[in-house]
Amino acid sequence: MSEDRILHEIEQNQDEYISFFQELIQAESYNPPGNEKNVALIIDKYLKDINITSEVFPFGDNRANLIAYLNDNFNGKNLLYNGHMDVVPPGNEEEWKYPPLSATIKRKRYLYGRGATDMKGGLAAMVISLKILKKLNISNAGNLILNAVADEEIGGRVGTQWCLDHILKSKKVHFIIIGEPTGLDPLPKGLILGEKGRIAIKIITNGISGHASLPAIGKNAIYMMNEIIQNLDELDEIIPKIKPPLTQEELKELISMAFPNKEIFEKILSEQPILQNLIKANCQFTKNLTMIKGGIKSNVVPDRCEAVIDFRLLPGQNTETVLNGLKKLINKLGYQVKDEPTGLPKEIFVYLEVEEAGEASFYSDWRNSPFLKDFYSIVEKIYQRKPFYFIMPASADAKFYRNTNYCQPTILFGPGNGQLAHAINENIEIKDFINAIKVYTLFAYNFLTN
Ligand SMILES: [Zn+2]
Repeated sequence: MSEDRILHEIEQNQDEYISFFQELIQAESYNPPGNEKNVALIIDKYLKDINITSEVFPFGDNRANLIAYLNDNFNGKNLLYNGHMDVVPPGNEEEWKYPPLSATIKRKRYLYGRGATDMKGGLAAMVISLKILKKLNISNAGNLILNAVADEEIGGRVGTQWCLDHILKSKKVHFIIIGEPTGLDPLPKGLILGEKGRIAIKIITNGISGHASLPAIGKNAIYMMNEIIQNLDELDEIIPKIKPPLTQEELKELISMAFPNKEIFEKILSEQPILQNLIKANCQFTKNLTMIKGGIKSNVVPDRCEAVIDFRLLPGQNTETVLNGLKKLINKLGYQVKDEPTGLPKEIFVYLEVEEAGEASFYSDWRNSPFLKDFYSIVEKIYQRKPFYFIMPASADAKFYRNTNYCQPTILFGPGNGQLAHAINENIEIKDFINAIKVYTLFAYNFLTN
């Protein structure tokens, strides 16, 4: 058995792999509501057809998680591949060049569809790597576990977290790869070591209703909200400063290693405002007002206004950090923050409601991992370009593994460009998908045999 045989096997079976990937896209799993079972059943059949142990764990209305094992020995080194089966809804389907569930191939080069990038490509590639390793019958010095999960797009509690708490906890795992898209055009592939946390907080301002012709009577809840929004930047001062896991200088250094020299990197950086912003966002707490609602009629003073703010946190910051900061700010503006959403008639107050909360996480000992070094060199070899280590401003399921100390050595790597995730006309380069199959298979092969 050699690496060449694996690569040859993959070259020979590309068409079969591509149709399996298309099948996953065609299995609708928009979240909300989820429907991940549509995808789980296809994966389950694909694996069972080659005698791989696979189990589907259904829940709710047509939802499911799936766990499969290359063999039944868990006493050696264990590697876990995680990929989510849910995708975000397509938005306005009229705007898509090809229907989002069609999995249309264009010029034999690109595959279009919701989930092509985020992340049915990475998921399919992981499933296929399991099949190849089974077929090649490698020794059982360790195990490869596949966890296909639900719910990633809504926070992962009934997906990755459920699987960890109920099935995986008893099995020691030494390294985890999550197959999220880690391309960042025009950069080479990223190996993602950390992610920011995300908290969504709904602010509700409660004023006093009245006739709009008498502005002095009543208390306009939209004006109250406006005051809070206008002063939101003060939070940057109120919330205690914290050291980011990697500084802007360190991040620049890490990306520049993927370029022939620093001058070339500096030139690209100066032409890429997205990259500049990305580096900056990775090193600080950020906030963004994303939803607002208020008023019931054009001639009535509104007594209620709701706004949702999306906060992105660094490791070490949590829900309390943000809630305390917001309370301080709102008190400073002269409003009381109540613990209950309802008050007496004609009571003026603000209420804060945490809608979603996930902490940041970071694989801190990454520089000392022989697994990661091997993974890096495989990616470099297959993609014929040096990848780079990085962290990302969005959140992913890695936090469940890292922050519970189940497996700190968790990274994200997968086919597709991050910029196309959740986008209209989401697509992936087929070559990228095939390369990911090669990387996942070769790495697991090395991991399980060395
Ligand atoms: Zn994703």
